[in-house]
This record gives sequence, structure tokens and C-alpha cells, in this order.
Amino acid sequence: MNLNLRAILYLAAAVAFIIGLKRLSGPRTARSGNMIGALGMLLAIVVTLFDELRVGIDLYWQWVVLGIVVGGGIGALLALRVKMTEMPQLVAAFNGFGGLASALVAGAVFLKPALGGAPLDMPLDTMITVILSVIVGAVTFTGSFIAYAKLQGLISGAPITYKGQQIVNSLILAGIVGFSVWTAVTQDGLPFWVAGAISLVLGVLFVIPIGGADMPVVIALLNSFSGIAAAMTGFVINNPALIIGGALVGASGLILTNLMCVAMNRPLTNVLFGAFGSADSSGGGGGAAATGDKRARSTTPDDVAIALAYAEQVMVVPGYGLAVAQAQHAMRELDKALQERGVKVAYGIHPVAGRMPGHMNVLLAEADVPYEALLDIDAANALLQRTDVVLVVGANDVVNPSARTDTGSPIYGMPILNVDSARSVVVIKRSLSPGFAGIDNPLFYLDNTQMLFSDAKKAITELERAIHDV
Ligand code: NDP
Repeated sequence: MNLNLRAILYLAAAVAFIIGLKRLSGPRTARSGNMIGALGMLLAIVVTLFDELRVGIDLYWQWVVLGIVVGGGIGALLALRVKMTEMPQLVAAFNGFGGLASALVAGAVFLKPALGGAPLDMPLDTMITVILSVIVGAVTFTGSFIAYAKLQGLISGAPITYKGQQIVNSLILAGIVGFSVWTAVTQDGLPFWVAGAISLVLGVLFVIPIGGADMPVVIALLNSFSGIAAAMTGFVINNPALIIGGALVGASGLILTNLMCVAMNRPLTNVLFGAFGSADSSGGGGGAAATGDKRARSTTPDDVAIALAYAEQVMVVPGYGLAVAQAQHAMRELDKALQERGVKVAYGIHPVAGRMPGHMNVLLAEADVPYEALLDIDAANALLQRTDVVLVVGANDVVNPSARTDTGSPIYGMPILNVDSARSVVVIKRSLSPGFAGIDNPLFYLDNTQMLFSDAKKAITELERAIHDV
């Protein structure tokens, strides 16, 4: 393939990545954005394969085709079968493999001397990039699989902490730096493999002290790492598409990490080193035990249906429980039944409602809820003051008023949806159990709050039926 044509096609792929990313920033354009990005990736792969022919590398086509068929098949199967609530662990696994691939491709340069070839004689800058891609790729690989195991329940999601943990991690990091410098100076394989092996250990130790529910933030960060590793591998094998693609993943992963931390009002250091969700940080504890003298009033679907049917403005605040119960379609039906009666229905979407960024937007879009009905936190809070009934569906932390008032609360300072400012609040959940943060929610005991204790899908379906009878 002609070099100019290669450059132009890689440029086209890079443009497709950027347009794809831009379109992913809004629910209306996200689907086509995903498709454009995937087409860009296909173009980059095809160009790379033909380019290998140009430089005379003997391509083992049977392996390439086998890789595409097996890898593509597994990817398609997973994408079709994975549940929305299991998406974070799927992304974790993909990141892990991305990191491993970068480490293997970059580290392969050390294979030749290890197999008896001539010793390496690489410029220092190339050597540094090789070492960095292997270290970052290895940390990403094991770190992502620990995140996967925590989210999938294969290991406990609780933070695993011990005395001197930060010191051990710092020593390991120092060891990696030491062996890397040794490698860079001597170009010797032994310190290189040791640095790679300790990096695998660091990935495990870095993620185990982080609570399972903080994993989405960690996964976004590891996603960024996998991009950085890929970009550095792009320098090693001199592939501009990999450099650009990797840099885009690295940057967007970092932006997402930051957005999530801002939405939770927790600095990244607190997510990484705060062991959030461990016994010490669970605040007052939750569930029935924490209720003490406080009483939550329970209600019935029939009563809630009357309140909804005669309301002018209703706001739905969905949370993790809506996702678990898969109640989005039932919710849409209830929404339609209310609108037929002239009730205005809006949705208040908290940026970290659910267990991954955009979780609620994706679920509600799946049920054809119009995008215009989805309000961000500021617009929702403004409307809540004029809202007659708020229906909190399987949400907990994102509507917890302690975030505003209780300086001792682990979620103090997190921006929340002020549902308590509405005329009346109905909370649909199965019990008084706490949510992700493990803390009690004073909202449940307020005078204008009623609890509809039920599975979200069951409750919403019953509400929809009851509305027709009002
Ligand atoms: P929460 O985890 O605070 O609460 C979810 C509630 O859903 C639980 O209290 C549970 O109560 C209820 N629930 C579970 N299953 C069902 C069901 N089948 N039917 C009805 N209710 C059910 O969720 P939120 O969405 O309010 O908050 C998300 C939390 O996750 C925040 O603390 C956020 O910081 C955190 N987080 C979010 C990330 C993101 O990217 N979105 C990333 C990292 C963390 P019960 O058992 O009584 O039914």
C-alpha cells in the first residue's frame, strides 16, 4: 500500500473516532456515534493488515482470520447476552484484554533475544516506551480483572485493606521503577520480565482496597490506562492509528473518571485510597436496625395511583433498583397512562444514578422515553419545587438529603436530587435497606414521604393498572 494512501486512510479512521466520540456525548446521537467509531476501527485494522504486506511481513492469514472470527464471535455473543446491570464488568474485561494486548505487543521485542537472537540495541526513547507500555498494560490487565471479579461477585466487593498497605504498594512501585531503569540502561531481558511481573502484582494490589461499588470509577480510570498503553505501543510499532486511538481512549477515560468523581463529590484519591464501603465508612449503617424510633409510612398502589392521576406535574427519579428490576418498559407504560390523563411527566436523572455513567439514560431510551423528558440534576431540582408527586423508583443515595445536611455523612457534599422539596414523595423499593453508600436515608421518614414497599417492576405495573381504574 502506498504510504500516502496509508496516511490518508489512517487520518480518515482517526476522524471517524473523533466524530464517533463526539456523537457518544448525547443519547440521541450515541447509536450512530458508536457505529461510526466501529467503522473507523475496521478501516484502521484493514489498512494495518495491508500495510504489513507492503513492508513485506509474512502475514499468517489463517491466524488473522481465526482471530477475527473467534474474537468477533465472542464479542458479539457477549454484547448480545450481557445484562445492562453487568455492563461495567464487561467493559472491565475488555479493558483488561486491551491492556494485555498492548503489553504483549510491546513486550514482544524482548522475545527475540530471549529466544537466542541478537541482544537489543534500541534507542533510549523507544526502550522507555516499550517499558511503559508493558507496565501500564500489565497493571491494567490484572487491575481490570480484579474489578471484574468484584463486580461479578466472584470475590468479595468489600475493600480489602491491611496495615501498611500504602507502604507495600509504594515499595512495589519503587521496585518497578528500579527494574525499569535497569532495563533501560542494560537493555537486558531479566529486569524487564521482573518489572512486568511486579506490575501484574501491582494491578491486583491497587484494586483490592477499593470497594466494589466504586469499581465503575476505577474501570473508567483503567480504561484510560488501557488507552495510554495502546498509544505507547503505537509508538513502539510505529502505527499512527494506534497512537491516535489510544490517546483518545486515554483522554476520554480520564474525563469520564473526573466527571464521575465530581458527580459524587469525591476526589479521585478518596475513591482510590478511601476504602469507601468498608465498615468504617458506612456511617450510621442502614436497614431496619438504623430506623430506631423513626417511622416510615407505607402506602398502597391504589392510593399512589389516585395521587398520580390527580397531579399536574409528576417527576420520576429512577435509580439502581429500576435497572435491577428491569422496570423501564413498565415505567414507560405508566408514563403513557398518566399523559393520556393530561398529567405532565418528567424524569430527574442524577449523573451517578445506577451503577455506571449514563445508566438511566440508556435504560429509559431502551423503553422509548423521549429524550426531552429526561432532565439533568439542575433542571430537575428547579422543577421539583413545582412538582406534585415524585416517584422515586429504586433510587436511594442520589435522593438522600443527608448529602446536604449531615457533615458526618460519607456522601456529604454530593449533589443530590432534592425530591423532598416536592409536594409529596413516593419511594418504591423493597425495604428500608440502604443503597450503595450503606447509609440510612432520612427521606424515608419525612412527613411528605410514603414508601411503596415492592419490587420496582411489580409496583409500576400495579400502578399502571390502578391508574386506569381511577
Ligand atoms: P442506590 O444503590 O443508592 O440504591 C438502590 C436502591 O434500589 C436500594 O436501596 C435497593 O433497596 C433498591 N432496589 C434494589 N433492587 C430493587 C428492586 N428489584 N426493586 C426496587 N428497588 C430495588 O442507587 P442510586 O441509583 O440511588 O445511587 C447510585 C449509587 O451508586 C450512588 O451512591 C453512586 O455514587 C454509586 N455509584 C454510581 C456510579 C455510576 O456511574 N452510576 C459509579 C459508582 C458508584 P431495597 O433493597 O430496599 O429494594
